[in-house]
Amino acid sequence: MLEAMEVMIVFIFDAHIDTLSRLNGTDQSLDDNQGHVDLKKLRQSRQGAQFFAAFVSPKFYHGKALHNAMEMIDLFWQWIERFPDDLDFAGSGKDILGIQTSGRLACLLAVEGGEALEGKVANLRMLYRLGVRLVTLTWNHRNDLAAGQGEGPDGGGLSRFGETVVGEMNKLGMLVDVSHLNDQSFWDTLRLSKAPVIASHSNARALCDHPRNLTDEQIKALANEGGVIGVNFCTHFLAKDRQATIHDVVEQIEYLAKVGGVECVGLGSDYDGIDRTPLGLEHYAKTPELAEILKERGYKADDVAKIMGGNLLRLCQTVLD
Ligand SMILES: [Zn+2]
Repeated sequence: MLEAMEVMIVFIFDAHIDTLSRLNGTDQSLDDNQGHVDLKKLRQSRQGAQFFAAFVSPKFYHGKALHNAMEMIDLFWQWIERFPDDLDFAGSGKDILGIQTSGRLACLLAVEGGEALEGKVANLRMLYRLGVRLVTLTWNHRNDLAAGQGEGPDGGGLSRFGETVVGEMNKLGMLVDVSHLNDQSFWDTLRLSKAPVIASHSNARALCDHPRNLTDEQIKALANEGGVIGVNFCTHFLAKDRQATIHDVVEQIEYLAKVGGVECVGLGSDYDGIDRTPLGLEHYAKTPELAEILKERGYKADDVAKIMGGNLLRLCQTVLD
């Protein structure tokens, strides 16, 4: 019992949820208790830190991408102000550690889709000033930074503007997110970035053959540079022709640890951005159960702590501080 309780209070850090885009522009509020993530489930999960992604939907790409991202960034700050007993803004590893001791959730801000920059590095710097600490360079399509996986493996790589953005993100201390990139853009980004990168919500392709997932070579290369991969709970990236379960997520964790080492493994649930969830991980408050299973499978407490959040914290301390 004591052992289980130790695992239950492990620091959990999830690199990607889409709750901002789920609720932006609706009448619903974070405390409506709907969706995979809401205030009640945030409290139940007792999670330590969370990246909230401002996901720019393709319908805003032409002329409204930054506008759309700004609405979600405003929503993020409204939540921080409205729920001060539960949530606090974190812009660095130091912030995360400080907030963790207060028992609140350290909330970090991400933008998913470089369309939000609208071709200007100035907009990247302004997003940084508004609290954004991670940018997912593309979604599934090509944009003026790079090519998403929807363009295919030969769909081109990082553009000149993309190179400038990665360089500026390194200078500012922001996490470069390679999830969604096609293979060529992935390799270009990894070669160029002076800091370790994150794949905030991606899995291993060897276990589930989907272009959104990473090859063994990509896992090894990202891990060698000190990067972290957040395991995605999206059923399509876990199992092709059947309902995925929590054990598929555990298998992904174990595989990534085997190929890239335990230091490269993290969580990136994609809650509120996926249509179906694995059995056993139906919503945010279920995430701590992963720690229980890892412990049961013989993982040392140290390694469980790294996988559940320690590795992502280390990456934030390395890149953001
Ligand atoms: Zn995504």
